[in-house]
Amino acid sequence: MPVSLLIALVLAFGLDAPRGRIPAEDVTARLAMMLGGVAFVAALAFGLGLWAAWRVARAGHASAPVRRRFTIGTRLITIGSLAVYAWIIHSLGWSKLVLANWGLHGWVLIDDLVVFLPYLAIQILVWSGLFAGERALRVGHGTMTGGLGRYLVLRARQSIGLVLPVILLYLARHDLIARVWPEWDRYELAEPLEVAVLGGFVLMISPIFVRIAWPTHSLPAGPLRRRLESAAARVGFKYTDILVWDTGNMMVNACVTGILPGFRYVLLTDALIETLTPLEAAAVFGHEVGHVVHRHLPFFGFFFIGSLGLLSLCASGVESAAPAFERLGRALDVSAGLMNETGQGVVLLLFLGLFFWQVFGRLSRRFERQADVFGAKFVSCQASACPPHVDLDASVCALAQPAQSLTICPVGVRLFADALASVAIHNGLDPQGRSWRHGSIASRLDFLAWLARNPAAERTFQTSVSRLRVGLGLVLSLAVCLSIVVGWLRGGI
Ligand SMILES: [Zn+2]
Ligand SMILES: [Zn+2]
Repeated sequence: MPVSLLIALVLAFGLDAPRGRIPAEDVTARLAMMLGGVAFVAALAFGLGLWAAWRVARAGHASAPVRRRFTIGTRLITIGSLAVYAWIIHSLGWSKLVLANWGLHGWVLIDDLVVFLPYLAIQILVWSGLFAGERALRVGHGTMTGGLGRYLVLRARQSIGLVLPVILLYLARHDLIARVWPEWDRYELAEPLEVAVLGGFVLMISPIFVRIAWPTHSLPAGPLRRRLESAAARVGFKYTDILVWDTGNMMVNACVTGILPGFRYVLLTDALIETLTPLEAAAVFGHEVGHVVHRHLPFFGFFFIGSLGLLSLCASGVESAAPAFERLGRALDVSAGLMNETGQGVVLLLFLGLFFWQVFGRLSRRFERQADVFGAKFVSCQASACPPHVDLDASVCALAQPAQSLTICPVGVRLFADALASVAIHNGLDPQGRSWRHGSIASRLDFLAWLARNPAAERTFQTSVSRLRVGLGLVLSLAVCLSIVVGWLRGGI
């Protein structure tokens, strides 16, 4: 899930839009400033993309420092895009302009879409700018088919396609219910309940969105399909289909979608199938199976609902600081009400940011490692005396083995590590580059190598992940229960 898109959505719709209108004589100046802001981010993106392309063309290859700088630059531009969009919404008053000045308030979905339009424009310009760099950094690692247009469509489908159905559902519901049942919003727990119900529903039907959003086709019969089917049957993994995700050879990636066993797809990109050996592809497939076997998706769902409980508790806590904020407002000679509202909003946003950065980041990295370990087990021969290594899925009738009882062997670990390394190279990633959600490729490879030398340490690792889950589960369940009690005491429900 593209995190920056979610942040942009929170910026646009999560905070209460300021009411009132912009004075008519100010409108032109503000629009000009807005265009200036959008042009500034676009110029940065084009600058970075062309710089990377020029460096690669001059050196004849993509060197590690160029890759690193391009990655860092891309991240800074993502942050810059969000900052400019926040400025457009909250300082230039874009929502006021759209809703009050132009009278779009109450136009179901149209109003929301226009409020979000500047971010979409920024995003398309940034992708266009980075395109030259992205293409150059992939030189020698499979060719990208198609030009800028295809690239833009792919990126847009990839990031918006998955989130859009959720947003549409949510906003339509929000706008419609506000008309049909206006009292609903007054209930303290209305919002968390909506998010919980909607979140669970979306997780269940997410395979439908994937098929709509991404161009895919069923993996044709052949040695790879036979191998994957045999391995999946061996460990008892159930799925609807294995799909090839057509990215015009732009991405080496895989993913799994759906929480119901009878309705779930595993996707492998076209470039992954082309560049990895069938054994390496099976290891990546195993990583995705690992996410399912360890129930990562439902736990993430629970995590988000629990975080809402925690957030609502914090909101109640911060509310009690209202007199202090109002005093501060009077001392600084600004409106006490405005100071209170801004102060509470900033404290809550800071808390939420810190919580996600630290706790969600750590949980996500642990889960990735757990899936990595499972990927290695998936292609391991289960023999303690390996080598010699036996390829269990080379024959059709391998013995069934429950996923929980699989073990790793050194060759299995090597296969998975090779797969991970070539995914990094083909995606133009810097192996040392840190990733908040996945950890750096180098640290994942080091961990696997260490595990291959000390197979007994796996148990310690699995116990530590279980402890993290149980601890978080307890804290978040408690937060949800407490927030319900607080809501009930206030007479909300
Ligand atoms: Zn993963
Ligand atoms: Zn082996």
